Amino acid sequence: MEPEEGCRLCGLHQGRSRIVLASGDPAARVCLVGEAPGEKEDREGSPFVGRSGKLLDRMLAEEGVDRSSLLITNTVKCRPPGNRDPRPEEMAACRPFLLSELAERDAVVALGRSACRALAGLEAPMKDIVNSRVPLDVDGNETVLIPTYHPAACIYRKEAREGLRETIRAVKGML
Ligand code: SF4
Repeated sequence: MEPEEGCRLCGLHQGRSRIVLASGDPAARVCLVGEAPGEKEDREGSPFVGRSGKLLDRMLAEEGVDRSSLLITNTVKCRPPGNRDPRPEEMAACRPFLLSELAERDAVVALGRSACRALAGLEAPMKDIVNSRVPLDVDGNETVLIPTYHPAACIYRKEAREGLRETIRAVKGML
């Protein structure tokens, strides 16, 4: 299930250039979920194509994971103005589209605090939950959520890079 072209289910439609749908393999065993499209994603219509996306691509390649073997998406499909955090009502409006992307995955990787909160209500600091395994109910079917750092947090923080790298290695073992 995808949002209709021109979706106006939440206020984020006002500032977007385009809806940013998931990219990758629709039948992927693992789905990576970030917070929201940024400026470049909004311009190009694909998730994780900006600076943090490039870092994610590089780390995936270094670990021998083909990005196209994954599904990559965001909790909301339209860019929040000024890259602010998506609001709860915006996440709720977009959630049915997210849930349909998460259906029948062996694992869901939450990239960053906002995705962890949106997907499983996790509020703990990232360092306390990174690479844990959290049961996740997706429309009555249980899968596993792996919290990890957002690639943007990895640009300057070695500890975050190591955490994300460990996640990528775990993902590789699931493919
Ligand atoms: S964020 Fe989701 S619900 Fe809101 S307008 Fe965009 S596609 Fe529709």
